[in-house]
Parts: sequence; C-alpha cells; structure tokens
Amino acid sequence: MGYNVAIDGPAGAGKSTVAKLVAKEKGYVYVDTGALYRALAVYFLDRGIKAGETEKIIGACENVEVSIRYEDGAQQVYLNGRNVTPRLRTEEVGNMASKSSSIPEVRAKLLELQRNLAREQDVVMDGRDIGTCVLPEADVKVYLTASVETRAKRRFDELSEKGVSCSFDEIAKDIAERDQRDMTRETAPLKQAEDAHLVDSSDMTIDEVVSAIAGLCR
Ligand code: C5P
Repeated sequence: MGYNVAIDGPAGAGKSTVAKLVAKEKGYVYVDTGALYRALAVYFLDRGIKAGETEKIIGACENVEVSIRYEDGAQQVYLNGRNVTPRLRTEEVGNMASKSSSIPEVRAKLLELQRNLAREQDVVMDGRDIGTCVLPEADVKVYLTASVETRAKRRFDELSEKGVSCSFDEIAKDIAERDQRDMTRETAPLKQAEDAHLVDSSDMTIDEVVSAIAGLCR
C-alpha cells in the first residue's frame, strides 16, 4: 500500500496548486481526479450527449476506458488510448463534468482506477470524495476550503491575467452552483471526512497552505 494523502474541497479552493507542491516536496505522485471526470465529460460531449441525458451517459460509460500516464512528471489522461489532456480545462468540459459526476455509474467507472493508483505508489490525490469514499483509510486527510468570494476573486484574477474578459458576479454564481451540485448529490457528495483536517485558505498564502499540509505528512 502506498502512503496516501487525500485533499478534498470545493472548486477553486486551490487544491491542485497545493497538492502538486506538496507532492513535489514529499516526492509523492500527484493525482488530479477532477481530470478523470473531465475526460469522461469530453467523451460524452464528443458523442453529442447533453448533460441531462442520463441514460445515454450511462450507456456511453460501457464503451470507454480512462487511464493515466505521467510524461515529464505531468499527469496525462487517456481516453480509449488517446491523450485528451489538452482538452480538459474548458468551461464546457468543466460544466459537463460537474453535472455528469453526480451519476453513480460515472463515479463507479473511475473508482477502481483511483484506488489502484493509490495502492501502487505514494500519492497526493485531490478531488471531492477522496477522504470519504475513494481512500477512506488515507494516511492524511485534508478538507481545503475558502469562501466563495475568495475563490471567485482568485479565478477572476487568473482569467484577467490571461486577458480573458469575465464578470466577477458570473464567476461567483458559477462557483456557488458547483458547490451546491457537489455537496447535495446523492452519491459521494462533497463533505469533510470526520478525520480530515480543515484548512481554510481564505487568508493564507499558497506557501502557508503547503507547509501546513506537508507538516501533517510523515
Ligand atoms: O476539480 P475539477 O474542477 O477538475 O473537477 C471537475 C468536476 O468533477 C467537479 O465539478 C466535480 O463535480 C467532479 N469531481 C468529482 N469528484 C472528484 C473530482 C471531481 O465529483 N473526486
């Protein structure tokens, strides 16, 4: 069994940034589980399936294989043998992933893959249900959160820096809706595991969050 660090929390809390840095500091492998849900979303979208078409999504799950590899230390996600990593970070894919991830068959499709990765190696895995469902025996569990305003501000700054025009209110609304979907779905909702350490990053720098989490690890 690998040494397992689970970091869960809502969208935009900084999980991936922090998890990557903790993994680097500790020499563990970083596993971005959101990317797996996003890869399935790409598959559904490519088949012309809409977010509300649950039966079609369930049917499509039967013919798809998701796997990951590491190239130059970066996680690459493969869909039936094809690398779809460059397509994962769009709004359209994020929206589809947020909706389709509430379907139990979609979650079941990715469960074993995530568990196998954690069995074989030391990992920092980030997601929504890692400490509660995927790795209930994880060595360290963190629930990383921040206020909706803080998360919206970070996303707004990030997009503005890239020259993308965006509205703060729209971003905040989108974040609040994603929280709502993740926290209220029936299967594996986002919640803090009883034995998870709560880290609220609203008033913390990235370095402070990384050292708080690294300090919990062996
Ligand atoms: O973290 P990221 O935004 O890339 O995740 C995309 C979507 O996948 C999220 O909106 C969430 O609904 C879903 N997800 C999930 N469980 C995970 C990781 C992500 O339901 N472990």
